[in-house]
Formats: sequence, structure tokens, C-alpha cells
Amino acid sequence: MGLPSALDDEGSEMNVILVGPPGAGKGTQAKFIEKRMGLRHVASGDLLRKAMRDETALGLKAREFIDQGELVPDDVVIGMILERIFEPDCERGVIFDGFPRTKEQAEALGESLAEHGQQIDAVIFLNAPRDILLKRIAGRQTCRGCQQSYNLYYFPSKEENICDVCGGELYQRSDDQMATARHRLEVYFRQTMPLIDYYRGLGLLHEVDGNTYVEYVTDRLSYELNAG
Ligand code: AMP
Repeated sequence: MGLPSALDDEGSEMNVILVGPPGAGKGTQAKFIEKRMGLRHVASGDLLRKAMRDETALGLKAREFIDQGELVPDDVVIGMILERIFEPDCERGVIFDGFPRTKEQAEALGESLAEHGQQIDAVIFLNAPRDILLKRIAGRQTCRGCQQSYNLYYFPSKEENICDVCGGELYQRSDDQMATARHRLEVYFRQTMPLIDYYRGLGLLHEVDGNTYVEYVTDRLSYELNAG
């Protein structure tokens, strides 16, 4: 299909969306792709959690929805993302993680990119079986200091509840607790799954199995993005 390669130095930007259920490994993979391909990782969940920590008006509004495992309203999230992705550090392109999550968000993103002479070049659908997703979500721990993530079952820190990287305290996100995790999966199936067909229809969809070793998934993803 001949995607523009983000590895070349011609300065052509490339915008990639990672879509998939919570726990599929979008955040982990996006960080590798950011390093490997020079795209900027933009994660809507991370931006929302930062706004909550900073107690901005947006953060306070988002908290009501996030704690319930519901989606934050489209207008709030769309405004936040469109402000972020045209900042100078996103010039080489963006790897979107957790956005868009609804058809409205996808359309708003497409329109705004077009206004800036840009487009979505590829959409990667990362998936894994439901029981694995739940275990990944419920076992997830994050460092309060550097935001590094761990998993109690698959990738524990060397010392219990202490970050290997910066020594910070590890915590479990409130929306990662089992009941909320189950609800987030339902929300995903109802509100975000339709995007898979939407992007397939646009000829942009690439499917990657997220239920294997992290390194294999990264290689597969890089292959899809470079070789099309
Ligand atoms: P994540 O870190 O991507 O799992 O997102 C955590 C939570 O933030 C989600 O369960 C939603 O409540 C909210 N959120 C993140 N991204 C979006 C989005 N694109 N649209 C609406 N809500 C979002």
C-alpha cells in the first residue's frame, strides 16, 4: 500500500491511530513506536489524568466520567486533543493512543487534519482476548513519579510497590479496579468498536494481535507501518 515511511528524513509527517480495548497494550506499544519512528505519542487518557492531577476545570469535569468508567464527553476531549496535536513537537506526526473513541471524535479529527493539509495514514487495531484484557487492566500499576507502568502478573517491579526507574511509589488507577475495568470494556464494545468498521471502510485498518510478547507486537506494528 506504500505508506509514507516515518523513518525517512524527508520530513513527511505520518499520523497513526492505535485503536483497541483497554489493556490491549496501546500505551506500551505507542511508546516504542514513538522512539522507533519519531512520531509524538499523544494519549488522551494521560492528558486527562494530568488535568485531573493539576485540578484544572477540564480535569475536574473529566473526573466524574473517568471514575465511573464512562467516556468523557466528545466536545471536551476533541478540544483537548486538537489543541495538543498542532503544537511544534508534533510536526513529524502523531501516534494517537485512546483517541478517537467515538465516530464523532474520528470525524472531528479527520476534518481538522484535512484543514491543516494532513491526514490519518494508518489505523492499527490491537486486540487481545477478554480474560487477558481484564488481567492486564486489574494488574496494572503506575508510578506516581515518572508514570512508568508495571503489571503485577506480567511485569512486576523488582521491589513491591516501588518503581524500578525512579524509586517512586506505585499505585493502581481507580478506574483499573475490576468492576470499573469490566464496565470500561462494555463501553469499548458499545462506543468504540464501530470505529473498526469505519476505518476499515476508509481502507486504513491494519490488525495486529496484541496477545503475544511485547517485542513481537512492536515488530509486527513497525512492519505494518513501514511495509503497509
Ligand atoms: P485510557 O487511559 O485511554 O484507558 O483512558 C482512561 C479513561 O479516560 C477512559 O476510561 C475515559 O473515561 C477517559 N478517556 C480517555 N480517552 C478518551 C476519549 N478519547 N474519549 C472519551 N473519554 C476518554
